[in-house]
Amino acid sequence: YFDDKTILYFDGQFTKAVEATTNLYTQTMHYGYGVFEGIRAYETANGTKIFKAEEHFERLKNSCEQIHIPYKYNNEELIQKTYEVLKLNNLTDAYIRPLVFCSPNMGISRPNEVSIMICAWEWGAYLGEKLLNLSISSYCRPHPRSTKVEAKVCGHYVNSILASVEAKDKGFDEALLLDSDGFLAEGPGSNLFFEKDGKLFTPQRGNILPGITRATVIELCKELEISVEEGLFKPEDLQNADSAFLCGTAAEIIGVSSLDGKDFPIKWENSLGKKLQLTYKNLVLDKPLLQTQF
Ligand code: PMP
Repeated sequence: YFDDKTILYFDGQFTKAVEATTNLYTQTMHYGYGVFEGIRAYETANGTKIFKAEEHFERLKNSCEQIHIPYKYNNEELIQKTYEVLKLNNLTDAYIRPLVFCSPNMGISRPNEVSIMICAWEWGAYLGEKLLNLSISSYCRPHPRSTKVEAKVCGHYVNSILASVEAKDKGFDEALLLDSDGFLAEGPGSNLFFEKDGKLFTPQRGNILPGITRATVIELCKELEISVEEGLFKPEDLQNADSAFLCGTAAEIIGVSSLDGKDFPIKWENSLGKKLQLTYKNLVLDKPLLQTQF
């Protein structure tokens, strides 16, 4: 993620990552009370472009506001600083990680001051390029009455790590979490879509992180005239699906070949997900969607 030369943005300054220091007595360090984003930049024919930069920084702001972390930043300026971070590190294709964290305070209380850092590194597809063997997790997503599930809060990722480690320990590639009522929710760091009878389905908002990639996929479905329905779905709906995929900024669009050892009947190459994967790639690379070859 970093070496001796890596530069990051930290509270108004560009600093070497190895020289950046922070206090250990913070609510972020002790309680997971902080907020972050995951963003990607792509090398396009028109130069390096941060994909959906405004949407990501807007979510960073909303996440902070939802959990009472004051957000004193100007997003346009942060986007500009992010481009500078990319330039200073000679990055074109990159994963970008802004983090808003608290200054010293051990109280279970409102934060005092906050800090922001933005770093970036080269990161291939987070879940790899191979089709995934997915497993339904024994962990459920946090209940919406126990936290702000639509905020990208540091502490929520303990739940994600538990589910992911459990799935890998059982020999699967990734977990799929249900909500506390047993409906399909999402992956530890991605949203779910599945195909049945030529239509796409995805869990509705309420118990998931409303992914920016998920919203993009829904938009692309309109362009491609693919029907997509948001709703409450049971594990059986996924077990009986024709194909499925996960999507997220880090993972992009990645096909799922099986659920708990049972293969989906439609081959990835022939699925709606594959079409969307190709179209998404063109979109992030700033190419006309019509160039997509199916
Ligand atoms: N759900 C969770 C739990 C996530 O961590 C992520 C990654 N941010 C997503 C969904 C996908 O969100 P996005 O498409 O905005 O990256």
